[in-house]
Amino acid sequence: RQDPESLIEPQNALSNVKKVIGVVSGKGGVGKSLVTSMLATTLRRRECSVGILDADITGPSIPKCFGLKGRATADENGMYPIITKTGIKVMSINLLLEEETAPVVWRGPVIAGAIKQFWTDVVWGDVDYMFVDMPPGTGDVPLTVFQSLPLAGIIIVASPQELVGMIVSKAVEMAKLMEVPVLGLVENMSYFKCPDCGKEIKLFGESHIDEVAAKYGLKVMGKLPIDPTLASACDRGIIELFGGDWLEGAADAIEEQG
Ligand code: ADP
Repeated sequence: RQDPESLIEPQNALSNVKKVIGVVSGKGGVGKSLVTSMLATTLRRRECSVGILDADITGPSIPKCFGLKGRATADENGMYPIITKTGIKVMSINLLLEEETAPVVWRGPVIAGAIKQFWTDVVWGDVDYMFVDMPPGTGDVPLTVFQSLPLAGIIIVASPQELVGMIVSKAVEMAKLMEVPVLGLVENMSYFKCPDCGKEIKLFGESHIDEVAAKYGLKVMGKLPIDPTLASACDRGIIELFGGDWLEGAADAIEEQG
């Protein structure tokens, strides 16, 4: 079997990215981008230097959540990330397209090539934690991205329904194949908290995250409720203002890992 490291090229000469963490999901729409944005925000609040490499070209979620409108610039040293209000560095294919709504119809190898360039050609400067919003699924594109970046670990985001299916096991298998550790599991849309009585309603039935985590020997990093204020913060580009401490445990685990 080919050594996965052989495909990884050095980062830009002006970058010093210490740790790259992939955020993966089995399919689109489970909140992977939202969780990526919130993890980045949580670590940024702890004064860490944070970057987001948006490798999910299925939609401009990351630029949208942070309200980024500008186009990335470049000079002889490379491309420059766009900086969010609180200082998170972001690079995304969606920041390079002419029209925010332009559909990305690139084929897998082209996408993978662009993501590789985000590693080799972007001037990231000092970054303690870089979160990669991975393309959803376990197909060719996510696999190539996996092979192109020096991932220190991955975090799997799943909805309660996915936790009863094959999706987590597929993601775990992919990580094993690539020899990348799974740092933990985040369950999104776990419950809905009634704004009137405070009761937690499990819309999708009892959570299976603890069983699934035990089955694969994974850490439960957090459970996020369905919260309309999160969706609206994303729509308004102000995700950095989110309240709630759902991902503090995940941030602790990431920091403990060094
Ligand atoms: P993915 O990256 O997995 O495709 P997104 O993060 O883009 O998914 O989320 C899909 C949509 O669902 C977005 O509009 C997002 O704001 C919304 N969403 C995700 N998680 C939650 C949540 N916990 N509460 C409310 N809305 C959410």
